[in-house]
Amino acid sequence: MIRVSDAATAPEFSTGAKAALGNAQLRRNVRHATDVIRAKRAAVVDEMPDWEALRDAAHEIKEHTLRHLGDYLEQFETNCTRAGGHVHWARDADEANRIIVGILKARREREVIKVKTMTSDETRLNAALEDCGIAPYETDLADLIIQLGLDKPSHIVVPALHKNKAEIRALFQRTMGLPDLGTDAGDLANAARAFLREKFLRVSAGFSGANYLIADTGSVCVVESEGNGRMCLTLPRLLITLAGVEKVIPSFTDLEVFLQILARSATGERMNPYNSIWTGTAAADGPEEFHIVLVDNGRTKVLADAHARETLDCIRCAACLNACPVYRQTGGHAYGSVYSGPIGAILTPQLQAMEYSQSLPYASSLCGACYEVCPVKINIPEILIHLRHRIVDAGDAPVSERLGMMAAGAAFSGPAMFSAALKVVRLASRPFQDDGQLRGLPGPLAEWLKTRDMPAVPVESFREWWARRTRRDDN
Ligand code: SF4
Repeated sequence: MIRVSDAATAPEFSTGAKAALGNAQLRRNVRHATDVIRAKRAAVVDEMPDWEALRDAAHEIKEHTLRHLGDYLEQFETNCTRAGGHVHWARDADEANRIIVGILKARREREVIKVKTMTSDETRLNAALEDCGIAPYETDLADLIIQLGLDKPSHIVVPALHKNKAEIRALFQRTMGLPDLGTDAGDLANAARAFLREKFLRVSAGFSGANYLIADTGSVCVVESEGNGRMCLTLPRLLITLAGVEKVIPSFTDLEVFLQILARSATGERMNPYNSIWTGTAAADGPEEFHIVLVDNGRTKVLADAHARETLDCIRCAACLNACPVYRQTGGHAYGSVYSGPIGAILTPQLQAMEYSQSLPYASSLCGACYEVCPVKINIPEILIHLRHRIVDAGDAPVSERLGMMAAGAAFSGPAMFSAALKVVRLASRPFQDDGQLRGLPGPLAEWLKTRDMPAVPVESFREWWARRTRRDDN
């Protein structure tokens, strides 16, 4: 079954957004965190004279790869297998989870240490592991905070971005049994380090996602900032990686482009502190057994849509989230999916199927800020409009929207109709006008005006004024 976390049962975006807007602490946390990351990103991007060329190169590499995706995946499989890795293919989330559980069970593993990966949140792997009596331990600090708090990620790169230091301290005090925990960020980091270190040294199975799969060498690349990933990738005897099929890139040399743009866009660093690349297994060095599960889960459906295919170019840097005026107000939970912000608004509905998550393509002002910062130049606003078209074409647009569009179509069909419509609107809105502003609207339109300022309909349009003036001059 194709599944994108809990998106199929999540409430509409407007419902989630309303709840988020009522949470002042959450909004403060999100605003502060995105401001900090945006400023850091801007500084390290500005110092790159070839930034636009890098964006173009990244876009070209991704588009080329998608056009030959089958070939590059097979090349990756051949080279990874030759180097001692085991490659598995999964059609959907359930199949991917079954394969991973099967590998762990075959080795009688009861615990697994995990590197941060959105793909396992997408398939809901942790729930599948726990159902089979296998304990997953998140080792990325933000993911650990989410797991201990039974919370949900709200950001692609910083999943616990909605939490502040005081909230995290209280959580650690409660869940780690540390009543005297200090208040410094260093105290919190030390508590997490001690909590995780014991697991790094004891648990013999590791799990990761992948930033890139390199076809011409069969290698896997994971980048991270904390070093927890390096521990999970090197200490256990068994390593399992889960990756979406779109993560493949043709060549090792392509990393030159992606390693430059990802860190700058994601965390505002010039380079990720830890860049781990491995190829199969090596005797007496790292895990003795390596499996990689390549999951589709709706991606080939996206690939088949020429207008939206570039959604799969995404390298999950989250720059579009930090720039988005909608995300910056609501945070990530309102999107009802592990993928939030502008990329979530186009990725979730396409993966999950449009009958779910239909409100997400409307969770945007179409201002274009996401496109400006996207390091692989995904034209998110155009894809949002394309998805809105698909909703309309499927006859699923709300009745009010369909009626509104029919009325607008009639009004704009010619000058006479436009002039008549203007007179009707002027007359109908007269009771709601005050001091040059519309203070209300009848029926369901009242809701629309609650969060907007709207000038009153002028007593005379330009055309009417022009016609009156011309008549006067003629006389
Ligand atoms: S769409 Fe672009 S900006 Fe947004 S997460 Fe993906 S790569 Fe980053």
